[in-house]
Amino acid sequence: MTTPPGHSDRRGGLLLVGAHIADMEFTAGHLARLHALAGEPVTILHLTAGEGGHPGMEPAAYRVQKLEEARQAAEVLGISCRVLDTPDGSLVPSPEVVDVVAGILTELAPSTVVTHWRGSFHPDHANTYFTVEAALARVARDGVTPQLWFPDNWEDADGYRPDIFVDITPVYDDWLEAARCHQLFRGGVVPFDYQSYYVGLSAMRGRLAGVERAAGFMSPPPIFAKPLSRLG
Ligand SMILES: [Zn+2]
Repeated sequence: MTTPPGHSDRRGGLLLVGAHIADMEFTAGHLARLHALAGEPVTILHLTAGEGGHPGMEPAAYRVQKLEEARQAAEVLGISCRVLDTPDGSLVPSPEVVDVVAGILTELAPSTVVTHWRGSFHPDHANTYFTVEAALARVARDGVTPQLWFPDNWEDADGYRPDIFVDITPVYDDWLEAARCHQLFRGGVVPFDYQSYYVGLSAMRGRLAGVERAAGFMSPPPIFAKPLSRLG
């Protein structure tokens, strides 16, 4: 595990758990900055570096670049950052990874956890959800019961419906600077235009929320049972 400087040993606050470096910065970096400015401890945990995502670079070289991008973005946001050694593309909610995440949850005891919604076309994203879900179930026995929010990630759109909207106008410039630490955001890695998408999304959500820039999050859907149909 890589633990860049700035790690906080205070408990509470916000923990963001992403599948790949950049996922949480793009979708919840503004929320992280808001919490950091409020004086709360904020940690971003990347379950993989995302080193397999550059078609023109060897994974080992891209991993070095990604770690540096994560470090820079965390510095801009004023938060702590950790990266697991799990290889990109092979994340599964194994007992070992669940153990690590549960350990971090116990250590940090966050008030809020932000992670991927399970309705994703990317297996690493869905498996991040299942990893966090299993880790949360384990630490709940010890009284660690943070609220869970899912950010608005274009890859996790199946069944995603935000019901929480946060005014990110005060931290928009910081978020954009942090996101732009990543080549993936600036462009030239994959055809998808991350910057245009997430900049436009924040403007669209802002229009709906009546502010300049906003971000949507989804709380866990309620578990419900439909009444049984009566036969005959
Ligand atoms: Zn990802």
